[in-house]
Amino acid sequence: MSSDATIGVDLGGTHLRSALADSFGRIMASRKAAVNIHMGAGAAVSLLIAECRALAGHAQSHAMNLRAIGLGVAGKIDAEAGVVLFSPNLRQMEGYPLVSSLAKAMGVPVVMENDANAFGLGEAFAGAGKGLSNWIGVTLGTGVGGCLVLGGRLWHGDGLGFSGEIGHTAILEDGPPCACGLKGCLESLASGSALVRGAGELISGGKATSGRLYDLWRDGNLSAMAIYECATAGDPWAQSLFVRMGRALGISLGNLFTVLGIRHAVIGGGVSAAWDQFIGPVKESLAGSMSMLAPGDAVILKSRLGDSAALIGAARLAFESVNR
Ligand SMILES: [Zn+2]
Repeated sequence: MSSDATIGVDLGGTHLRSALADSFGRIMASRKAAVNIHMGAGAAVSLLIAECRALAGHAQSHAMNLRAIGLGVAGKIDAEAGVVLFSPNLRQMEGYPLVSSLAKAMGVPVVMENDANAFGLGEAFAGAGKGLSNWIGVTLGTGVGGCLVLGGRLWHGDGLGFSGEIGHTAILEDGPPCACGLKGCLESLASGSALVRGAGELISGGKATSGRLYDLWRDGNLSAMAIYECATAGDPWAQSLFVRMGRALGISLGNLFTVLGIRHAVIGGGVSAAWDQFIGPVKESLAGSMSMLAPGDAVILKSRLGDSAALIGAARLAFESVNR
């Protein structure tokens, strides 16, 4: 007897991750491929189809019945039309009929969500958000993504193609430039790219002119993870970048908690691996920016599914779309 399976896809600015999941959300097989902004839409979609076909082959050889595919895509999307509307890190996908192209090639229904919303679906189903009715999700990666779960459901607002976008809430007037075109968004202070740019600015501004951070910059090897290693080793300039990041995140979360009357957040994404460097400043900043909630009542949780959260969420979205 065959069992049902779905494919979940997490498409970001640098990676295309995909997984075959069973009806319990368990990952049966997974794949990872590199993408970049210079890759044309046609080449990126061909790669996406090839990855899905490989997983469909795995399903077939294990007598599993592939029912649908769920896509989690970075950016502002039109889920009904199956089109990416605006994505600073996936410019080539803007306007491309992504969902219909994949559905035609694979012969199964395809559904699409923003990648941070897919993260939220995954954490709500099997991670740190399980059992929580109301929470804010934050993904710290190249950029900063966000989602809102209210009343146990993913919040879609007025259906404008974005919701819970905490990364583009304004923190600092005339702050650093953001990929969205504005200045001083949370993303410009709390993302992986903000850490790298911030380190470069410290060094070119005459600070941190020797040591490991400087060597990494000189050799063109600065990355969020390398800056984290410097901070862990005691570099005060690297640590200052995580303090800036944590404070900004605390202000954004505090504002949202106050507006919504909620007190839980789940933080994930690759840069959340630097947890010990930024969580203290997040809590200090929350305590200093909230008057309605006692500081000890705010609950900041770490993602439990790690970099599988969006994959599991996208696979779950696909499963729910054919089992309504
Ligand atoms: Zn922005």
